Amino acid sequence: MGAGPSSVAPSTYYALSRSTLGHLDPYFIKIMDEVKEGLRTIMGTKNMLTVPMSGTGSIGMEAAFVNMVEYGDKVLVLQNGVFGQRMVDVASRLGAEVTELAFEWGTPVDINRVADKLSKEDYKIVAVVYAETSTGVRNPVEEIGKLLKDKDTFFLVDAVTALGGMPVEVDKWGIDICYSGSQKCLSCPPGASPITFSDRAVEFINNRKSPVPNWYLDMSLLTKYWEGNTRVYHHTPPINMFYGIYQAIHNILEEGMETVYNRHQNVHEQLVKGIEEMGWEMLVDKEYRLPMLNAIVVPEGIDEAALRDKLLKEYNTEISAGLGTLSGKIVRIGLMGYNAQPYNVEFVLKAIKEITSK
Ligand SMILES: *Cc1c(COP(=O)(O)O)cnc(C)c1O
Repeated sequence: MGAGPSSVAPSTYYALSRSTLGHLDPYFIKIMDEVKEGLRTIMGTKNMLTVPMSGTGSIGMEAAFVNMVEYGDKVLVLQNGVFGQRMVDVASRLGAEVTELAFEWGTPVDINRVADKLSKEDYKIVAVVYAETSTGVRNPVEEIGKLLKDKDTFFLVDAVTALGGMPVEVDKWGIDICYSGSQKCLSCPPGASPITFSDRAVEFINNRKSPVPNWYLDMSLLTKYWEGNTRVYHHTPPINMFYGIYQAIHNILEEGMETVYNRHQNVHEQLVKGIEEMGWEMLVDKEYRLPMLNAIVVPEGIDEAALRDKLLKEYNTEISAGLGTLSGKIVRIGLMGYNAQPYNVEFVLKAIKEITSK
């Protein structure tokens, strides 16, 4: 019940254990096609180029930037947590001219400051993390998308923690590049990273002045494996991981996307209620809280490291520490995917009460 990996659904463990097919086996290609279609549904997009990448969530971030950035490109990163900082690092390493617009950790991106910045300067890419796992903040992605509506700017969004736990509407919100990971609300083990590129982004990639400076992540090469009547070997993907993604998508669609999002919201509210009844506080203002990642301020006098240690050793339950400036000040409780169940909330609240009343 930390910031990920989340627990894996039994049906997904079962899918992962099925026979490993060849990467060009017609049956595997059928699975690939269904995975692409399923990802389009849960990401809210019609984008042709919608696939899982081989690797963890960070490979989605790498793939997004390495395909979209050319040397000297202007990139604006809206940063209010660890993963926003990582975007700055990734884009900088590619030689982008990065502008970092920073916001206090625990608060959302301030749309007025973004509007002000965009009125003064044009950027090739604006990047933001939708669900900032390090702080529990939901950023106003839809509103940022509106600001970019009539511009040529590409809108790049990290939905690693969001996907499968709250609505992600790539097309409606004007997102050009969006990626996720398998081990957050999709409740798979780490190892696959769904990503989608708008047709406009694909057109840019196919007409780059310089080749994508990374062979493994070059979408123009990968497309030849993922699309068309004749598939061309690029690299052997983690076949069984894609069975896991297939099953995870199936589980969400079978339960119903709305039902899944409501389940996350309900257990979140249940947790907040219990935390506030204990006299503890949430870090983030109500309106901007993530349902799947709850940042809780640890009261004075309580040693959060000892609390986490006891939870793990005596209750077999993992929760996460704060990161960066929030280290030692908060704990983070994940209610992701398969873990988003009322029983888990009751259990963790009871455990925290028992530990802190001793
Ligand atoms: C977990 C996470 C990542 C990185 O994913 P890894 O699977 O650890 O590589 C990126 N962005 C966000 C918002 C995350 O929560």
